Amino acid sequence: MENADIFSDAIRRLGQASKIAQIDPEVLERLKYPRASLQVSIPVRMDDGSLRVFEGYRVRYDDSRGPGKGGIRFHPQVSLDEVKALAFWMTCKCAVVGIPFGGAKGGVTVNPKELSRLELERLSRSFIRQIADFIGPETDVPAPDVYTNAMIMGWMMDEYSKLRRQRMPAVITGKPIPLGGSLGRDDATGRGAYYCIKELESRRNWQPSEMRVAVQGFGNAGQHVAQLLHKDGYKVVAVSDSQGAIYQPDGFDVPSLIYMKNESRRLKAVYCDGSVCESVHAEKISNAELLELDVDLLIPAALENQITAENAEHIKAPVIIEVANGPITSEADEILGRKGALIVPDILANAGGVTVSYFEWVQNKAGYYWSLEEVHEKLHTIMVREFGNVYELMTDEQTDMRTAAYALALRRIGAAISAHGTGSYFSSDEA
Ligand code: GLU
Repeated sequence: MENADIFSDAIRRLGQASKIAQIDPEVLERLKYPRASLQVSIPVRMDDGSLRVFEGYRVRYDDSRGPGKGGIRFHPQVSLDEVKALAFWMTCKCAVVGIPFGGAKGGVTVNPKELSRLELERLSRSFIRQIADFIGPETDVPAPDVYTNAMIMGWMMDEYSKLRRQRMPAVITGKPIPLGGSLGRDDATGRGAYYCIKELESRRNWQPSEMRVAVQGFGNAGQHVAQLLHKDGYKVVAVSDSQGAIYQPDGFDVPSLIYMKNESRRLKAVYCDGSVCESVHAEKISNAELLELDVDLLIPAALENQITAENAEHIKAPVIIEVANGPITSEADEILGRKGALIVPDILANAGGVTVSYFEWVQNKAGYYWSLEEVHEKLHTIMVREFGNVYELMTDEQTDMRTAAYALALRRIGAAISAHGTGSYFSSDEA
């Protein structure tokens, strides 16, 4: 699918869910359009003295339930259409976990791996200067996403604070701990997905040692979910990054994989020749082959549009946990649905990240910081509760889990929009 279609594909999911949610048609109409989109150019002085201008975006999709919330990604594929889709997903995600935020997203079209550290810092600060009037602790709160991290959030918070001439940590989440970050934010996305898997485990009586797992994407979220599952005895048999994939039917020692990946910055080091690479026994496969492996759990944790009408028929995993945003297109969804696959949708499975971002925002505003145990306990409570709500709605309505999650989100967003009055209220004469 072309990137230009990603937003319309995202919106398509509302139709079916709205029937279950039984919301006012006005709510649906409102949710077809982003509230505001900002496109900026970001001039950056490069190390060699030349000037490069990058394109960046921030989209606030809906703020009926609270300030916009969502990450900023740095990636060569970033486009306005993609950022709109991602901001729409954030709107639904915040509603599914019941946190008081709307949805937003930002992005810069750049390959950050080609920039020096100083160039990356200049780009991050420059982007914030361009969008400073669009964001704020009470309007729109960014966070990390693909290829952005805590240090970048720290630079961005610092730049915003300089502009406002006061320290404003609540403008952005996912910051380094000494700069007002929350304990437990770093592994929150993976941990939230892990809590969803544990809920399925108890409902389906899984034996962890019999569960073979493939993880596509070995970035922050992919690494943490793999590590937590490995600790519980799940067999992580395949992992991949943008360079390729490795497969080991007996299961990997995930902590060593993480160590090697982060040492070399590429998973390739694990199967390359020499030194540390030789200590891991693995077959080299492609990213496409990883998706089609005969495993019990497939975890797409990379980018959107990975499972499409082209490869959906070949996917063998009976359970898919969407840790990435939008890894399955709506066409592929239908094919997988017919095959009986259970898909835990992104707006629930990866909502742990934004949930702990919410905790960070609350702590920044209160100036009072929580222990790691408190963060884990509160995250666990929310994930278990909302997983249960979605699962119950799925069973009651005899639908799939994605439709149930969207229906739950729509009910909550719809309640906030309708509280201001809709056409049916204003056109009726009753007091
Ligand atoms: N980028 C993450 C997501 O897609 C986190 C967003 C946030 O923490 O605001 O959910």
